[in-house]
Amino acid sequence: MMVSIGEVLIDFIALQEGKLKDVKSFEKHPGGAPANVAVGLSRLGVESALVSKVGDDPFGDFLLERLHDEGVRTYISRDAEKHTGVVFVQLIGAKPEFILYDGVAYFNLKPEDVETALLENAETIHFGTVLFAREPSRSTLFGILEELKGKVPLSYDVNIRPDLWRGREGEMLRDIERALGLADIVKLGDGELAYLRDNGINPEDFDFKLLAVTLGEKGSELMSGGAKVHIPAYRVEPVDTTGAGDAFTAALLAGLHYSNLLGEGTIDEEHLRKLGRFANLVAALSTTLRGAWSVPKMEEIVLMKEVRELYQRSKR
Ligand code: ATP
Repeated sequence: MMVSIGEVLIDFIALQEGKLKDVKSFEKHPGGAPANVAVGLSRLGVESALVSKVGDDPFGDFLLERLHDEGVRTYISRDAEKHTGVVFVQLIGAKPEFILYDGVAYFNLKPEDVETALLENAETIHFGTVLFAREPSRSTLFGILEELKGKVPLSYDVNIRPDLWRGREGEMLRDIERALGLADIVKLGDGELAYLRDNGINPEDFDFKLLAVTLGEKGSELMSGGAKVHIPAYRVEPVDTTGAGDAFTAALLAGLHYSNLLGEGTIDEEHLRKLGRFANLVAALSTTLRGAWSVPKMEEIVLMKEVRELYQRSKR
């Protein structure tokens, strides 16, 4: 079971292009990066669970229902005081921008909301930076990561949302550095990599099992030990890139699962290439559908070369 911890929320996606102030209508979609990864894993045939918190409100009901429909095991508390998180997403071209609302249930995640046995027995634990932006979710998540470091592979999508940290960028950078020190598998966008480097944090200096940098339409770079590969993007006509990074992360984790690479040390160049081709394929296909839950199902892609080559290792 691969477990994601973090925000699950409603993405209200604008139905017209242009500035948010001019948009007339929005479409309701389930989202939140760790939830997107949990759904992506389930669609790719990997057992997955989500640990989070939603309000005791209709949006909370909607998210729980949709996660069940997707086959994700939910370990989600209902908050009697805080509402379910919402985000408004503005599409300019196919590139999204976000306004994230504050004071919502997922920031109120407390240690008693989390089942320790689930985490201790997880194949991986996946998390992002968003929960660090507020208490008590920040201390709850760091507590879990510090407890499980070295026992369960920890997967971190840096996923910087500067809106949540206005005036506290120094704190954010310290938290990201601390999280990088705990993680085994790390994914971040090239813009995030440049931002961290400009601020004196170089993810390439850490000792990760796997570091993946996504480059949008240029594809991705994967690094492990001394090995480094660049994988060009799979060619598609994107409609909506919301969640492309999460689709990539889900595919990376699923790829590690299917090729039996989670338990070992570093990954050689050949296997980095296979993982990268698979993750780029899944992420590209996800951009051809609207919304963040747009990962293709495993049975739809299982005959493609990028998928078949993953299994060669596990069959040995
Ligand atoms: P976010 O979803 O938060 O924007 P991100 O910055 O990691 O995350 P991108 O780098 O834009 O996301 O995309 C992730 C992956 O999706 C890329 O590495 C690539 O494989 C695929 N991808 C993104 N845009 C395109 C595109 N236009 N054509 C083909 N593949 C794409």
